[in-house]
Amino acid sequence: MVVSCQKDNPIDPPSNVYSNSTLDYIISLGYSNDRIVDVGKYYLVEGDIKFWKDSNHKKARPIQRARISSPLAQLSTVDNITVGITSFPNTAWSQRVIDGTQAAINSWNGLSNCKVNFIYTPGPATPDILIEHDATLPLDAYGSTEVPSTCTASTFIGLNTNSQYLSVDQLHFLIAHELSHTIGFTHTDHQGDGSGVNSFVVRTTPDGDGASVMNSGIYHGVFTNPTSVKKWSDFAGGFSTYDRSASSFLFPNSPDATLTDNGAGLNLVWPPSYFCSSEVIIEVYKNNVQVGANSLEPNTGFFFINLNDPGSYRAEVQDARGGTRTALITL
Ligand SMILES: [Zn+2]
Repeated sequence: MVVSCQKDNPIDPPSNVYSNSTLDYIISLGYSNDRIVDVGKYYLVEGDIKFWKDSNHKKARPIQRARISSPLAQLSTVDNITVGITSFPNTAWSQRVIDGTQAAINSWNGLSNCKVNFIYTPGPATPDILIEHDATLPLDAYGSTEVPSTCTASTFIGLNTNSQYLSVDQLHFLIAHELSHTIGFTHTDHQGDGSGVNSFVVRTTPDGDGASVMNSGIYHGVFTNPTSVKKWSDFAGGFSTYDRSASSFLFPNSPDATLTDNGAGLNLVWPPSYFCSSEVIIEVYKNNVQVGANSLEPNTGFFFINLNDPGSYRAEVQDARGGTRTALITL
């Protein structure tokens, strides 16, 4: 991505190495201890986000008020995400899950200026995301999934045994919420302080959005009584205004970077999903001469360049996974 501007004090990169326990890792993301439940092979965080104890899974990372994990699903991978369903223990339950899934997919696909597109795929094909009955889930955790640990959507959504009592309207909400997690959204009401590594707030959204579909399960059905689970029809208009603006900011149809003068300096903005990385390298040029050193920054989609003197500025944003610099990307 190339646009115009500057920054002169490189910031130390956040560590990408998690050698301690999964629990320590979850806490490092900013989650509170009292929102983490040990369910044997995995931890369930804020009601429905799974973190596996097995080392193969321990680097699952949550994203950014609308909050996103980082990495989130990369923009180039979200326009054709297939979703399948395993058979549930009885026909009526299966049919409600199918109907709820199709409704959730339609809601996601209906978002404007959002490249995310889910495709329901019945039959034996191997889908990108498989929705299955997960009998290991607690009876108050109706749905669960992971946030991306790589740069593609996570691959499973589990529905607990109590989900057999949910209506299509409730499943519509629940599956729309879980699909959001699969591409990187965490909870709008995330209880941590937001300072965790790889947990960022979408800058286009306010602090607190009671209408968000992405508020955590504690408000949406952590009780064993299935009637406590929200219905899609409880959300006037479905996704909230800020859910929608976050979706457009993170996964725009036409990705672009901008560099604008805000009076005190320059705002550099880009879609984080453009890069498969939790960090980016930013270079700033004034009159075609680089200003300061390369800067390694969190891939939040926003960087303020504290330069305010006259000149012609250009900025370049590059993927920086693991400190390895990749080719310059130009939007
Ligand atoms: Zn959730």
